[in-house]
Amino acid sequence: MRRLLIAGNWKMNKTVPEAIELVRGLKERLKCVEDRDVLICPPFTALYPVSKELEGSQILLGGQNMFYEEKGAFTGEISPLMLKDVGCSFVILGHSERRHIFGEDDKLINKKVISAVKHGLIPILCVGERIEEREEGRTEEVIEKQVREGLKGLSSKDEFVIAYEPVWAIGTGKTATPEMAQEVHSFIREILKELFGEEKAGRVRVLYGGSVKPENAKGLLEMPDIDGALVGGASLKAESFSAIVQFD
Ligand code: PGA
Repeated sequence: MRRLLIAGNWKMNKTVPEAIELVRGLKERLKCVEDRDVLICPPFTALYPVSKELEGSQILLGGQNMFYEEKGAFTGEISPLMLKDVGCSFVILGHSERRHIFGEDDKLINKKVISAVKHGLIPILCVGERIEEREEGRTEEVIEKQVREGLKGLSSKDEFVIAYEPVWAIGTGKTATPEMAQEVHSFIREILKELFGEEKAGRVRVLYGGSVKPENAKGLLEMPDIDGALVGGASLKAESFSAIVQFD
């Protein structure tokens, strides 16, 4: 019922020539992917050349962040119009690195989510608990707040994706077990049911992120409420990202 979405979050990696080389490698390796969506999110500087390289390919393009205004005096920011202009259909919002390194809070992230939807971009809202929150038994409380506040103002007609990324699993090599992840994913779906009704909740894709690699992708992606992956480190090489995308 839900189409798989495998997304690569390149973070602050790849110059333009490196990005083109990676995209060429992906185009070569990705063969039977008609039944799933493949998305790459390069840094801003590589979006335009990558979009040219992707012409005629099924690979989708997304931004890693954006500001909520359309234009104006916001030095250093990128707008939803600019992302659309260079061929993006998705945008990652509220990534834990944005929350923790750059101090983004739920309120700001919510404004970005609303703006993305308004401009026809599909937001991937990232949520996740820190290790101390998990150890204190507060995982559900933290996730619930991030999901409710992040999605405030959206309706069941709006398209959005959620990515559950436990902060302790990002870039650490520590993955949540498929069972641990499934538990949180099913909890997120319960919140979505409350917010948007059963039918919509059944259609929203909830991705898992945090040290996803070719070796653990299958176990995670076969869980009933895990509808895809947001891949950081392993999306930087064509071999590993294409192996994750074609995990089965
Ligand atoms: P990782 O990053 O796969 O390198 O853990 C995932 C993410 O931060 O989206």
